[in-house]
Amino acid sequence: MDKYRVKPGAKVRLSKWDPDDQSEFKGDKEQGRAKVAKINDDLEALQDLLYGEHKHKVLVVLQAMDTAGKDGVIRSVFDGVNPQGVRVAAFKAPSSVELDHDYLWRVHQQAPGKGEMVIFNRSHYEDVLVVRVHNLAPKEVWSRRYEHINAFEKLLADEGTTILKFFLHIDKDEQAARLQARLDDPEKHWKFAVGDLAERKLWDQYTDAYNDAIEQTSTPWAPWYIVPANRKWYRDLVISTVLVKTLKDLKMKFPENKDDLSKVVIE
Ligand code: ATP
Ligand code: MG
Repeated sequence: MDKYRVKPGAKVRLSKWDPDDQSEFKGDKEQGRAKVAKINDDLEALQDLLYGEHKHKVLVVLQAMDTAGKDGVIRSVFDGVNPQGVRVAAFKAPSSVELDHDYLWRVHQQAPGKGEMVIFNRSHYEDVLVVRVHNLAPKEVWSRRYEHINAFEKLLADEGTTILKFFLHIDKDEQAARLQARLDDPEKHWKFAVGDLAERKLWDQYTDAYNDAIEQTSTPWAPWYIVPANRKWYRDLVISTVLVKTLKDLKMKFPENKDDLSKVVIE
């Protein structure tokens, strides 16, 4: 799945990344789904280790246009993992107290502790995305944030956090189809946000903002992956594969018991 990782310093043009790509898996949707379920067993075991070892911290950042499937990823990739060790932090429009502080203040509080995996459903990247597109801060303010973000993520990494950042890449037609499906099905009406239509009109501006954000902040310590996400099963497959490989590379071990258990007799 290395082909989806953005190399530090590489130029990013999302228009050059194919949201329909499925070249890393030889199989159909059904086989893909089965594979995700299999990888999910590995993830459960690895997350158990992460929790038991109580050493590493893992941060997964999810960013995407509306309807690209952040919720779907959280549901299927993390299906069945022990809720004790995994937490989702969703970042909505900041409260007035949050706005009174610097933009990383609320984010740092949600960073994972030892043995914990935290999924950011949106993140500090909104502060160079929606903030830029909607002019919530002037250019001179948001443009210096890439540097802060890289330094912030370096701090987390230096202190033992493994960071993975995923951009779920769909195209505008796919978004139209998903919005239409929500509109057509009364059971999905609750998911339909009229406000998403206004954001959709700003598609190109968001694309520019994502291009710059990903280009400026894909670092060795916190890489971005651009995940083809027009097909939901393939999107889940890419993310779970990267996650499991990264966790395996941590070479985690359950801690030894500090007592000599060979002498223990249970009466
Ligand atoms: P879903 O629609 O699937 O429930 P969502 O992540 O789109 O999930 P919403 O409540 O629809 O959740 O949207 C959250 C909104 O908060 C987004 O429009 C996002 O851009 C906005 N937001 C997040 N962080 C910031 C920020 N720092 N400044 C301004 N707006 C922000
Ligand atoms: Mg929304």
